[in-house]
Amino acid sequence: MAPHNGTSTLELDRLSGAPRPLIDPFARAITYLRVSVTDRCDFRCVYCMSEHMSFLPKAELLSLEELDRLCSAFVAKGVNKLRLTGGEPLVRRGIMTLVSSLSRHLKSGALQELTLTTNGSLLEKYAAELKGHGVERINVSLDTLDPDKFRAITRWGDLDKVLAGIDAAQAAGLKIKINAVALKGVNEDELAGLVEWAHGRGMDLTVIEVMPLGDVGETRLDQYLPLSMVRSRLSERFTLNDIDYQTGGPARYVRVKETGGRLGFITPLTHNFCESCNRVRITCTGTLYMCLGQEDAADLRGPLRASESDDLVHAAIDEAITRKPRGHDFIIDRRRHGPAVSRHMSVTGG
Ligand code: SAM
Ligand code: SF4
Repeated sequence: MAPHNGTSTLELDRLSGAPRPLIDPFARAITYLRVSVTDRCDFRCVYCMSEHMSFLPKAELLSLEELDRLCSAFVAKGVNKLRLTGGEPLVRRGIMTLVSSLSRHLKSGALQELTLTTNGSLLEKYAAELKGHGVERINVSLDTLDPDKFRAITRWGDLDKVLAGIDAAQAAGLKIKINAVALKGVNEDELAGLVEWAHGRGMDLTVIEVMPLGDVGETRLDQYLPLSMVRSRLSERFTLNDIDYQTGGPARYVRVKETGGRLGFITPLTHNFCESCNRVRITCTGTLYMCLGQEDAADLRGPLRASESDDLVHAAIDEAITRKPRGHDFIIDRRRHGPAVSRHMSVTGG
């Protein structure tokens, strides 16, 4: 990291004795950690995975205790928002043990939010428990309300189970944001209906541009629908008023006048949002990715296992943050429709 006034940040750290907050080379404070707790999933969404995925041997995964230790090391360094993701986080055996133990950081006030992103298939089983552990809001991914289309997009998913999960989550008092990936020729005609449905149930909706992550067995050009087009089509049906609402994520929000609900747009391709990036991601094997769209990474499993003290992990995190890049450079066009990075979204989590 660049020295300040001739004193290195390591020296400053040593002098103050306090855990140094994570500040990257572009002066962005890193306060948000996303943790992919498993690379496995009970769906095979066409934009996320190929049909025949090979997954990591279970022996390579961090244990739940190790995941807890790693998350807690980030919390000690000023991370105040933690999102569990995957793969499908709720298929990880014992996941509620991890949620329960991480909830101590909510109780201590170190964490402002503990949340997760899920495909909803197991929410019916876990919603009440999540709420009991202090989870207040969750993201549920749902791209269509048509059962056949849902099966086609997810390959293995059952829409009824997801809808039952959403019912259970709302009954448990969880706030839900629906995430829908805009897919050319697949759900583009349905997005207005999704807005009405989500807002009618008191849920926010965020639409996401498909990102070129990993080989999914089809060209991204066939999937990619720029959200500029989605927005202009939705504007024919609704009045969209820009609002300042921020969730700490990259979505830009509008209020839909006719429904009264919030609609977010996540546009990694048409409008890059990296300048305000406050997040990093760890995989279930303890690899830290400083950017979703770049290959550079740092191994945290080695330092984690090398010593019972967290000093090595802290040092490895500090060093990695000095390498956080300015941003991604996703492009999907006629010439460039291959993956920007080789790993799938399920490795680093959404
Ligand atoms: N399984 C959980 C789920 O589906 O919500 C969590 C993991 S999933 C990788 C997280 C989010 O990433 C989902 O909302 C999914 O739609 C989105 N996603 C996956 N692959 C994507 C891609 N190539 N481009 C954009 N979004 C993607
Ligand atoms: Fe599984 Fe989520 Fe990827 Fe779909 S988007 S395959 S549900 S990890």
